[in-house]
Amino acid sequence: MQLTNRSKKTDKTPLTLAEKSYLPGIAKGMGITLKHFFSKKATIRYPEQTRYLGPIFRGHHILKRDEEGRERCTACGLCAVACPAEAISMVAAEREKGEEHLYREEKYAAAYEVNMLRCIFCGLCEEACPKEAVYLRHDKFVPVFTSRDQVIYGKDQLVEDMDDRYERDAWTKEEMQKLWEQQKPVNY
Ligand code: SF4
Ligand code: SF4
Repeated sequence: MQLTNRSKKTDKTPLTLAEKSYLPGIAKGMGITLKHFFSKKATIRYPEQTRYLGPIFRGHHILKRDEEGRERCTACGLCAVACPAEAISMVAAEREKGEEHLYREEKYAAAYEVNMLRCIFCGLCEEACPKEAVYLRHDKFVPVFTSRDQVIYGKDQLVEDMDDRYERDAWTKEEMQKLWEQQKPVNY
């Protein structure tokens, strides 16, 4: 009984002499190979060459400073509460007299840690922060680690360097699309 009409009859025509020699098949295969050899490559020579990650890529965390170089974070803990992976921990401290040039608010994070082994780079910490203090950089990966000691990022790795401030490339969807179209692989 035939269940479907999708069955096909096998072609049992005897092969020609050319088909028996496989030469047309080999020539056709070589043609396809040559076509790909000269066409634009879809891959790049990573890690010597890298691609622009995109304006909304969520990478390495950063704790921002304000224009005067003061740490923006006030250790409110909202980022830690928002974090679904429980990757953030901090210790709050009161700002002392004379420390106004270091910390913007009266309370600051004496310690702030992100466990990169737990982090899933969802960006919820960034969205939860009322002080625009924590961001996930669009231009920097978290490097590969080989030991557990390397996965807890403290303030020494997170707080922004005033000589190399982080700026996001684009904020609107249109700006992002324009940037994405302009970018080309970068050689290092
Ligand atoms: S990116 Fe997501 S998982 Fe990572 S620290 Fe922020 S909230 Fe937690
Ligand atoms: S980074 Fe933002 S949300 Fe997290 S503790 Fe600091 S001020 Fe609060």
